[in-house]
Amino acid sequence: MKFRFITSALLALAVGVFAFVVRGDAVSVGAAIAAALGAGLFVQNRRLLRRRRMDRAPFPDAWRAVLDEYVDFYDGLEGDDQARFERDVRYFVEEHTIAGPRGIEVEEELKVLVGASAALLSFGQPGYIWERVRDVIIYPEAFDDEYVTSSQGNILGQVGRQSSIIFSARALRQGFAAGDDGLNVGLHEMAHVLDFDGGPADGVPSLMPWHAVRGWLNLVHDEVQLIDAHRSVLRQYGATNEAEFFAVATEAFFERPTQLRKKHPELYAMLREAYAQDPAGPSEVDDEGDERSPEARRRRRNERKRRQDKKDKR
Ligand SMILES: [Zn+2]
Repeated sequence: MKFRFITSALLALAVGVFAFVVRGDAVSVGAAIAAALGAGLFVQNRRLLRRRRMDRAPFPDAWRAVLDEYVDFYDGLEGDDQARFERDVRYFVEEHTIAGPRGIEVEEELKVLVGASAALLSFGQPGYIWERVRDVIIYPEAFDDEYVTSSQGNILGQVGRQSSIIFSARALRQGFAAGDDGLNVGLHEMAHVLDFDGGPADGVPSLMPWHAVRGWLNLVHDEVQLIDAHRSVLRQYGATNEAEFFAVATEAFFERPTQLRKKHPELYAMLREAYAQDPAGPSEVDDEGDERSPEARRRRRNERKRRQDKKDKR
């Protein structure tokens, strides 16, 4: 939003200077500036109006069922936070084109999972707008360098600075279905998008406070050595380069937060500051001896679900 406002202000200035050169009188300069500012505000307001319309409509039950079934993070939230998460999912899904190759329609479930990936990462920054995201293309399976889905394909997701985000539908579902293995292509690619926000993908996203950047880069260097020595919670792919490190660390931060905090406290603390979220939560224990962190709650809930599924199958 800030970006759009600056753009329209610059546009207004340019028009003003042009009008002054052509007509040379102050009235036309003022009128031109007002018109350009008005145009900028119109663009900005259109989004707000659209969002207000979305807010009035009830959140679709089918979408809620997808969040319930797949997204542990959502299940770990309470009341208002759940509503805020739903709202962010809807904004993302409605404001971006999410389709299959050549624009074919994809299942709603996949759109919701893409929206959930974005909503999860931006949950600590209410009102965050994913300006850099163009459209999202979903292939049914993993694909290869030529964007062909075949048994040789091993790319699960991809994103470039100026290009679309691409996902394999199967990998997207699996990423959420197994919510605690530190492998989630939705979170991974969205983390790359955040990284592009600050310029080139260098593993330092714009949400990292500038005073923390040097410390972050030193930490990445040490953590990559731990990965190479097989002494890390992060998966091996994180050692590829700084950008992949940030994406892989993001997956672990949301999917294995307690473990990450325990084994890599400094890394956890820096991600907590960057994302303004604390997925491991306070490590208190309640009267019944249950751990009260959101992750522990999710774990217990999954356990209950698994027991219920077993019962249903009998
Ligand atoms: Zn990657």
